[in-house]
Amino acid sequence: MISLKVDSAYPEDQGGGRARLDPETMLQLHISPGDLVYIDGKNRTIAKVWRMMVNDWNQEKLRIDNYTRMNAGVSIGDRVTISPVEGVIPAKSLILAPPEDMPKQLPINYNSAIARLIDFPVMKNDSVPVVAGLPFMQPQTVSFKIVHIEPENSVIITRETEIEFSDKPAAGFEGLKTISYEDIGGLKGELQNVRETIELPMRHPELFRKLGIDPPKGVLLYGPPGTGKTLIAKAVANESGAHFISIAGPEIISKYYGESEQRLREIFDEAEDNAPAIVFIDELDSIAPKREDVTGEVERRVVAQLLTMMDGLEERGQVVVIGATNRLDAIDQALRRPGRFDREIEIGVPGEEDRLEILRIHTRGMPIEGENLILDTRKKCETAQGEEKENLEKEFKILTDEVHKNRESMLEEFASKTNGFVGADLAALAREAAMRALRRYLPDIDLDSDEIPQSVLESMEIKISDFKNALRE
Ligand code: ADP
Repeated sequence: MISLKVDSAYPEDQGGGRARLDPETMLQLHISPGDLVYIDGKNRTIAKVWRMMVNDWNQEKLRIDNYTRMNAGVSIGDRVTISPVEGVIPAKSLILAPPEDMPKQLPINYNSAIARLIDFPVMKNDSVPVVAGLPFMQPQTVSFKIVHIEPENSVIITRETEIEFSDKPAAGFEGLKTISYEDIGGLKGELQNVRETIELPMRHPELFRKLGIDPPKGVLLYGPPGTGKTLIAKAVANESGAHFISIAGPEIISKYYGESEQRLREIFDEAEDNAPAIVFIDELDSIAPKREDVTGEVERRVVAQLLTMMDGLEERGQVVVIGATNRLDAIDQALRRPGRFDREIEIGVPGEEDRLEILRIHTRGMPIEGENLILDTRKKCETAQGEEKENLEKEFKILTDEVHKNRESMLEEFASKTNGFVGADLAALAREAAMRALRRYLPDIDLDSDEIPQSVLESMEIKISDFKNALRE
């Protein structure tokens, strides 16, 4: 048994049931990549061991995604203990139930959802990621809860596991479809900075009290639109368990006397009542232009009110205001003084490596060329016997590797050809590719019927050429 600190998963690990460990930890536990480990936080869960990247070694940490964190009842920065799983018991059958807040219109392609769960480490009461949505929608994983598993001490899903999807939602289970750090590509240093500035004082005010440091009340995120400022604010709120209130600057501005001030007061009241809380003000420049730019009386009063509210925040570190802007120089100087928005973090345009990560995130749940063939081969494996089965299994492995490689090399090519694209552009590119694929299937779809046949859903795939054409536009 070994105690480690929890960190976020690599983006490509999202929904994969993996625990990244360093070689030192593996050595101490006598385990290797591919083995299963128990992770004990508030609850016990299980994950498959993968090797960490070199720059993460020897820091006494492990990397797990938000599903595994939720199953273990821990957040980033918490400590968990790791121990090897002795005796890998495959699940014979299990029943998965959707969350109570499962959107009705979100179709699930059961075959590919099941295919993604093969080899997935599981335990009683865990929830697992199920890919939902049409290929043209933002790929989305929804967490389904294991409401029944046989035998009760099984630890892994195999090809032989019978998986049943229940229609009835799991009581009191809200699922997990919120933004987490794994949804943010690139921006590693920036995110680290945001977390130290906001999350740390929220989670451990005693550290700051002891050292006599004032945690910040306000943080300014600045940079071009579509680079992930909103995403970061949401992720920090989720990961630190803080109440999140989001408003856009222009929403506050009202032409009725006193209404804007009232609105701001309500927002800060809500934040203090629900602390720890994050108030996110998008387009901060619109409510707080430089004094000399202000023509309207309203803006001046809103700035004054915001200053009053921030100066009045008692519980330092427990309510943090994050302001976002494209134009740092358009922010009122009074707002940038100490004790107000006194931390500034630039969120810039992503470089090639970061673009690759962002593309991986936005194509994560997309069925890309070749995946259906993999599913077919897998299906054939199930009924085959003896030598034929062995051959099919080999083919399955080769195909899986090949499709993965093609997908990666396509994404690399796109990352290299998209100089100047921000996250929002890359997300739009992935969506456009999927829309092009969808247009091919439209003739097979009866748009008047409520449900799209499973057979059509299962055959849908996005071709590499769809991506190429999307970029050409
Ligand atoms: P901003 O607040 O900086 O204008 P957002 O955070 O609202 O931008 O980003 C808009 C959308 O673009 C996000 O919802 C997401 O889909 C995508 N996006 C932007 N930046 C990133 C990123 N770094 N990683 C992944 N997706 C991103």
